[in-house]
Amino acid sequence: MPKMPSKTYRVKSYGKQTKHDKPKNWLKDQSHKAIYSTARWIKLRKAYMQRNPVCEMCDKGAYFLDHIIPISQGGDIWNEDNLQGLCPSCNGRKTKKQQS
Ligand SMILES: [Zn+2]
Repeated sequence: MPKMPSKTYRVKSYGKQTKHDKPKNWLKDQSHKAIYSTARWIKLRKAYMQRNPVCEMCDKGAYFLDHIIPISQGGDIWNEDNLQGLCPSCNGRKTKKQQS
């Protein structure tokens, strides 16, 4: 008889675990962000921005160096063909698009 309620409890906690899938993916994205604080990236970004100071999507000043194909989708981190300078608003729009 006491087995019945414990079974129900297990099912409930299982459902909770699937809800945690989102933070897991979020953590995965965070690991890519570690690249952006490496000396190699900062150097690459600086050199690229000096040559391409304007946002690729509009004509505002570029501030972010963005990967055209995201690293999480297999994009090359260090290949300049996969890089584009973006202003804060265009970068924000792109990030929002990728998250949804
Ligand atoms: Zn822009």
